[in-house]
Amino acid sequence: MGLFRRKKKHVPFWIRKTHLFRKDEFICSECGYNTKKAYKTCPCCKAPMSKEIFDPSWVDEIEMQDMMFDD
Ligand SMILES: [Zn+2]
Repeated sequence: MGLFRRKKKHVPFWIRKTHLFRKDEFICSECGYNTKKAYKTCPCCKAPMSKEIFDPSWVDEIEMQDMMFDD
């Protein structure tokens, strides 16, 4: 299960998670795989990733927005 609900023409992408004292992490929008590098394809679910990197200030906020779109 990914962080986002599947839509038509859905393009998988990396979600950048910034850390104060550690290197940035990238999270697969499809499977939630966590990596230090934004690969072209997800090493976990093999999804071809978009060049766009989603860069939220808080990941929790996206999950909240996702829930708000639910109805
Ligand atoms: Zn993945």
